[in-house]
Amino acid sequence: MFAETEGFLTAIQDQVILTRNYKKYVLKQPDIGELCSRCGKESETIQHIIAACEQLAPTEYVKRHDRLAKVIHQKLAEAAELIDGKSPYYNYTPANVLENEMSNCTGIATYDVWQ
Ligand SMILES: [Zn+2]
Repeated sequence: MFAETEGFLTAIQDQVILTRNYKKYVLKQPDIGELCSRCGKESETIQHIIAACEQLAPTEYVKRHDRLAKVIHQKLAEAAELIDGKSPYYNYTPANVLENEMSNCTGIATYDVWQ
């Protein structure tokens, strides 16, 4: 992990990211409103940004979910010997259905890792 990434993660864990809530209540900046800059409905905290913003849910949360699901798909496909595992996770594009020579020999038609 890059040092910059580790530092950023530590800042998130310690909740010292410059959210509007942090600016208003910790830094005591009087001109700052605490509501989320995306949805404007909830206090802009780390928890809200990471998992509770209704504006981010249909876009960024889905993208995050899909990126993680691709990593899991790749690992499962490698474990089942359906792919060779030489592709880095960020270049991996999962196939809907994967097959290998074992799936044809044993009578198992396909191995759909999404099911
Ligand atoms: Zn929001």
